[in-house]
Amino acid sequence: MTDQFDKTHLWHPYTSMLNPLPTFKVKCAYGSTIELEDGRTMIDGMSSWWCTIHGYNHPALNQAVKDQLDKMSHVMFGGLTHEPAIELGKLLLQITPPTLDKIFYADSGSVSVEVALKMAVQYWTAQGKHQKTNFVTTRSGYHGDTWNAMSVCDPVTGMHQVFGSCLPIRYFVPAPQSPYGGAWIKEDTQALADTLATHHENIAAMIIEPIVQGAGGMRFYHPEYLRQAKALCEKYNVLMIFDEIATGFGRTGKMFAWEHASIEPDIMCIGKGLTGGYMTLAATLTNTHVAEVISSGEAGVFMHGPTFMANPLACAVALKSTQLLVNQDWQNNIQRIESTLLQHLQPLNDLDTVENIRVLGAIGVVEMKNAVNMAVLQDEFVRRGIWVRPFGRLVYVMPPYIITDDELAFLLTQLGEVIQSRMSV
Ligand SMILES: *Cc1c(COP(=O)(O)O)cnc(C)c1O
Repeated sequence: MTDQFDKTHLWHPYTSMLNPLPTFKVKCAYGSTIELEDGRTMIDGMSSWWCTIHGYNHPALNQAVKDQLDKMSHVMFGGLTHEPAIELGKLLLQITPPTLDKIFYADSGSVSVEVALKMAVQYWTAQGKHQKTNFVTTRSGYHGDTWNAMSVCDPVTGMHQVFGSCLPIRYFVPAPQSPYGGAWIKEDTQALADTLATHHENIAAMIIEPIVQGAGGMRFYHPEYLRQAKALCEKYNVLMIFDEIATGFGRTGKMFAWEHASIEPDIMCIGKGLTGGYMTLAATLTNTHVAEVISSGEAGVFMHGPTFMANPLACAVALKSTQLLVNQDWQNNIQRIESTLLQHLQPLNDLDTVENIRVLGAIGVVEMKNAVNMAVLQDEFVRRGIWVRPFGRLVYVMPPYIITDDELAFLLTQLGEVIQSRMSV
């Protein structure tokens, strides 16, 4: 099954080159289906890591890429601009927090996080606050794999052990403990309040994934946390960055997760679902105030400009994907997925191997008591015709929004049977 060249020469995400886990060779993908070279098909539970919200090989998205390809696939964004960047920008401003009105296109989620962190630092240095260069964040966060993005990931499940002292040291506070939909724990922001009180003169910004902590643990927390955190940031002159790279484009039941708390950040990162999973594109948004302060500082400009900034092909398909989303009854559709997820996952809560299950929007999580054997589980899922990729103690799904009721029922039934079989223990 595993391709020999692939195994010998191609590095996969978070994978050993000595003892790589098997890979499955994909021939094509369409709708919610991934088809392997050997003819087997799988119902996709991952949306290729939150991205393919409209499924694979979507005719309208294909057409958008083809149309743009015949005009130009790329031009530099320094000194030039184009329709796809402009039209995408107009649409993004309609669906993101009302106070955010400046958009910086970046080439990936991690880069958009770097851009956000740089914006925060430039914002303070422009005002002569040269010591406000550090960041505060919660544990169990995930913000990407580049240097400074890594530094604000969870220090235990993230990469701090491996990279040690070459990672900048950040201020970490405990992950929010009050669950989404549960009771608010009064002390939940106490550590944040203490940290800000002591260190605010060194802190440029707080960065956090609103409501859903994704790759750092798939945790859903109480909106009150964001309200209090924002109030504390304002009190201590610290900017708030929301990383909505995973939570954006309807995934949590709102267009963006800040809406659960009605709290607007000063800077926001979006990515992943932005192009419907067609290619890499992300963006960092901010408000007029932050943009003007940065631009009136000594540097006079924001110091970032990737080669493939605002790539026209990526912008064109992002525009079409976002239009597709806003022009349908996506709220009802996410609710449909949410209630099916609940219905199928709830019974697993009773198993002695399961710690708990949780569902929010089109995200379903089964947290096991012990770490799963990924190789065994992955193989069994593929054998049963579903694509689900667990990590640690988490078996989770975030299917494409176009998944049919039958496909979703199949995905969740197979998933449930594997978990019940105790194979994962
Ligand atoms: C995936 C992710 C990133 C990193 O995005 P890349 O495109 O992989 O660089 C950053 N933050 C969050 C919350 C993510 O889920």
